[in-house]
Amino acid sequence: PLSMTRRRGLQPPPGMTVESFLAAVDELRRELNGPADLIQINNDAVELVDGWYLDKPATTHDAFHVADPENLASSAVIFPRSTADVQAIVRWANRHTTTGAGKKKRGIPLYPISMGRNLGYGGAAPRVPGGVVLDLGRNMHQIVNLDGANASCVVQPGVTYFALYEAVQKLNESQPEQPLWIDTPDLGGGSVLGNAVDRGVGYTPYGDHFANHCGMEVVLPDGSLLRTGMGALPGPDGADSPAWQSFQHSFGPAVHGLFSQSSLGIVVQMGFHLMPAPPAHQSYCLTFPREDDFAAIVEVIRPLAQRGVLGNIPQLRHVVQELNVTGQPRETFRADKARADPTKPLTAEEVHAAASRLALGDCAWVFYGTQYGATQQALDDQIADITSAFASAIPGTRLVRPEDVPTDHYLHARALVCAGVPVLRELDWLNWVPNGAHLFFSPIAPTRGADARALHDLIKQLHVEHGFDLFPTLCVAGREMHYISNIVYDRADADAKQRAVRLMRAMIAACAARGFGEYRTHLLFADQVARTYSWGGQALLRFHETIKDAVDPQGVLAPGRSGIWPDAYRGEGWEL
Ligand code: ADP
Repeated sequence: PLSMTRRRGLQPPPGMTVESFLAAVDELRRELNGPADLIQINNDAVELVDGWYLDKPATTHDAFHVADPENLASSAVIFPRSTADVQAIVRWANRHTTTGAGKKKRGIPLYPISMGRNLGYGGAAPRVPGGVVLDLGRNMHQIVNLDGANASCVVQPGVTYFALYEAVQKLNESQPEQPLWIDTPDLGGGSVLGNAVDRGVGYTPYGDHFANHCGMEVVLPDGSLLRTGMGALPGPDGADSPAWQSFQHSFGPAVHGLFSQSSLGIVVQMGFHLMPAPPAHQSYCLTFPREDDFAAIVEVIRPLAQRGVLGNIPQLRHVVQELNVTGQPRETFRADKARADPTKPLTAEEVHAAASRLALGDCAWVFYGTQYGATQQALDDQIADITSAFASAIPGTRLVRPEDVPTDHYLHARALVCAGVPVLRELDWLNWVPNGAHLFFSPIAPTRGADARALHDLIKQLHVEHGFDLFPTLCVAGREMHYISNIVYDRADADAKQRAVRLMRAMIAACAARGFGEYRTHLLFADQVARTYSWGGQALLRFHETIKDAVDPQGVLAPGRSGIWPDAYRGEGWEL
């Protein structure tokens, strides 16, 4: 892990001096009345250590920095123990106001994180330098409820996929007649709640994490509490509503969406539905020989997905990912060692030559799918039908089953994820370059061959121009696809970081010009992405701002999150 000694020392929130900030923190310490380590001040004695995913990455800054890490460093990290602590902290932030150039009052900016493992999207960093990070995960990690009959759970922010998985396994031992699954994203160390509020995805049929949530408890920017869904209706004798984890909605306009990718509330509890485990499931992959097959593959997926033939949201990956999931550095695949150069991606010839020596053999695209059903025979029949649908459109389609590849092949890790078992395999990517970090670019496109091709060509061209290997993974549903490309760069290489930023900015602009926008982005690019959603004279952003100002008049909660700046910050040059 990289670390950096502080050059600037403690960076207080904007408008505060070090002294006024430390005095405010002392006041909070007295109020919370907890152990000394409940609040960590990031003064110059605290180095900016990136940390490693598993040991818990940095909460002082963005561990996968694309700029100077000190630009996105927090002044302090607070580790609340309870909802009452979170409320007290929010009220404290509102009490300590300063004014910006526009003379409007603003409180201390608070940035809530659950685990801070949101790497590639900004990690634990505050958007405003000197913002205070609320690390909810360290002390609030209870599984509040696990309801076997309703097949649901309620979790606090610090519950990881691994922790929930273990608890559900235990529950399953006590109700073998209805075993349950969780749904996990590619990496299992993150927070179940954090990933869902950020609208992350997984790969069982419950892969849309926000869609499968049911009920939230939220601390609002004034410190008051709100429950969404049926939780808004109290149960008898002070109990929770018995239907809280049964029905996502309540009465009147739906507000739960306002707390996803949001700066309108701190979610302290969230309910989720759990999937009854199917009697049988089978993962497999299909390989396609030519780069040019891409559009045709997408055309075959669309009707299969719309008709519900595909069991989950499959991943379509370029074969170059067969190389990086081996965990070997890029340069081991370089045919001409003299070409080793951080600005030179592998050539197509090098990728194909290397792929031909790996388990799947040479090909251009790999489709990872999973079927779920009553019997193994039913799954085998489904997979045979799916394979022939592809084979009739794409010559050279080849089916590969787990037993066809060595036990360390990625297909086995995929099979676990698609059955709700958390894994860490995708961390192997980071070995691609020294000091590896990554940045996600994730636009949405319709599931149509022509659109897929246009998007891919554009992204590919820009990767060539900026000197990066292109790693496309597409999560393809019946009507839309998440095109996820992962820019892997060397955190110690200032030039690589600048190129990565230029590549991101170029892709956001070029995709928007074709009508494609990102579903999520790193916090440094949020302003640019928000601006691309410009229909109707930026109607969406203006509506977001109107709500923000009404709910959080002093802008204490995550200013700048999703490109939404509170009134007291707008027009003062914060937007990037
Ligand atoms: P992970 O679950 O991958 O560790 P984080 O904890 O970093 O992810 O959460 C991802 C993002 O979601 C954060 O940067 C923050 O903006 C938002 N977030 C996380 N937890 C909460 C929460 N409890 N309330 C509101 N927003 C949250």
